[in-house]
Amino acid sequence: MSKTVVALHEVRSALAIPAARGGLHAPLADTRGRALRDLRISVTDRCNFRCVYCMPREVFDADYAFLPHEQLLSFEEIVRLARVFRAHGMEKVRLTGGEPLLRKDIDRLVAMLREALPGVDLTLTTNGSALKAQARALKLAGLDRLTVSLDSLEEATFRAMNDADFPVAKVLAAIDAAAAAGLAPIKINMVVKRGVNDHQVVDMARHFRGSGHIVRFIEYMDVGSTNGWRMDDVVPSADVVRRIGEHFPLEPVDAHYGGEVAERWRYADGSGEIGVISSVTRAFCATCTRARLSTDGQLYTCLFAQRGYDLKSLVRGGASDDELAGAIRGIWQGRADRYSEIRTAATAANRKVEMSFIGG
Ligand code: SAM
Repeated sequence: MSKTVVALHEVRSALAIPAARGGLHAPLADTRGRALRDLRISVTDRCNFRCVYCMPREVFDADYAFLPHEQLLSFEEIVRLARVFRAHGMEKVRLTGGEPLLRKDIDRLVAMLREALPGVDLTLTTNGSALKAQARALKLAGLDRLTVSLDSLEEATFRAMNDADFPVAKVLAAIDAAAAAGLAPIKINMVVKRGVNDHQVVDMARHFRGSGHIVRFIEYMDVGSTNGWRMDDVVPSADVVRRIGEHFPLEPVDAHYGGEVAERWRYADGSGEIGVISSVTRAFCATCTRARLSTDGQLYTCLFAQRGYDLKSLVRGGASDDELAGAIRGIWQGRADRYSEIRTAATAANRKVEMSFIGG
């Protein structure tokens, strides 16, 4: 064994990274036979919104210690790791956060990923607040698709959800700008929280019907440990589909591919489609192929994970690409996560990593 390999072996065991089985290029599967197809990369833990279900202001206040810049993965480190994930079969990258458009020169990262990962589906999720000015640059850099989060069309309800003073009209204008830049159709994420914005479900469907954009209604989840989640606050997707269907008849549509997160429905009159994401009432752990890279370079194998694996220390400790590939392989082979299948009020109270840190 060479000196470097011995040193990295020691780093790996100190980081509790499991050893890999099989050759580096053999098909990769976790303990339940799930492949690694999607990589979500959180490019910043900062956000200018304080959504009550994600970054509540009481916790993420003026004293909250966000990561110092040197702890963030650099663009070069992100691209290098993404290439290694690609070699393991990863087909899709989603940039997220925090608010990804707050990361300086994010279009440069998109261009670097585009060049390094031909054929990979390159997407980004944003709150839309800084999108209007950046949409064209993102498209030119090679972004394939975009998701914009918007929880209500009413000012007061929008503010009750995001606890920030940002007009709905500006998010709508940003969606138009992104469509004009060639990023249509755009997905619009609406997290539905009972008693806060669920009265807006039909209005959201009505507003975007016929626009070509696809609203996705997301069940409110117990991500992180700060949002005070209660099952009573969840509006089951079946209810959402029923409520919309009473106004605009809907019919189910087949998934685009196995493991698609959103269940698809189309308007019977041909005016487009919606999606519902039912991670609470219809867990899709069995087909989950997503890995998450946190802002500071930890690999998480589940949105509800209680721990990550420190890839940044390996990268900064001098690991070769093969050594990184072996580490990722060992971590994925040991993956047994199925949190949404076993969720209870008690597990919801577990200390889990915050979503702003590992990305939505
Ligand atoms: N700042 C960006 C945004 O607003 O889209 C990206 C990060 S955000 C964490 C990604 C997505 O996660 C958003 O669509 C957000 O609504 C969703 N999300 C955050 N917390 C959630 C929760 N508790 N339940 C369901 N979805 C949640």
